[in-house]
Amino acid sequence: MWRKLASALLLISLLACSPQPKAAQASLPLWGKVIAIDPGHGGPDPGATRGTLLEKDIVLDLGFRLRQLLGNAGAVTFMTRESDGDLADENPALPGGRKRRDILRRVELINEWQPDAALSLHVNAIGSSRWRGAQVFYPPDDPESERLAKAIQNSLTRVLQNTNRVAKVGDYRVLNDSRCPVVLVEVGFISNPEEAALLANENYRQKIVWAIYLGLQDWLAGN
Ligand SMILES: [Zn+2]
Repeated sequence: MWRKLASALLLISLLACSPQPKAAQASLPLWGKVIAIDPGHGGPDPGATRGTLLEKDIVLDLGFRLRQLLGNAGAVTFMTRESDGDLADENPALPGGRKRRDILRRVELINEWQPDAALSLHVNAIGSSRWRGAQVFYPPDDPESERLAKAIQNSLTRVLQNTNRVAKVGDYRVLNDSRCPVVLVEVGFISNPEEAALLANENYRQKIVWAIYLGLQDWLAGN
């Protein structure tokens, strides 16, 4: 009995002293975290458009860039889509028309994965070309999602230096029905000509995902 206990203790102390996980943790700030990335729209649904510039393409590219950054930081990532298609036909049991089934499937996936956070990526558009600026939305009565949204909004404000928008409650199904901290990032207005040009630019896209990544890190650090 004592010998068994002693060997169990030895095993525990060996595991605790094993240098690998600790070293990995120190150099990988998102070690052990699971993050879901949800690039909006896809397939027959282009989302917001301006000429040949389509929301579905912008957010898919942002999704890949974000996945790369998060993966390099040690996170496990899932993407709701990795190609130009929607998710409407993935689960025939889901009710409603194409758009509704697409959204319901995204929520279903996120809830299956049970990530530490889910990030839905979109591009904004409005009738007037005046408005611009990235903005983060979160579900009502959800303090963790609110804290995550504010951390990402602050980071976007700091990194992009072109918006004074604030994080806001949003009424979206992906926010209301995902059972994890979840935010929807509207990365900018395609209806504003200057911002549309920025959204088409690779360096600017990299800045956006860098900002999202830093915000996520601030949130995880409890800031
Ligand atoms: Zn959208």
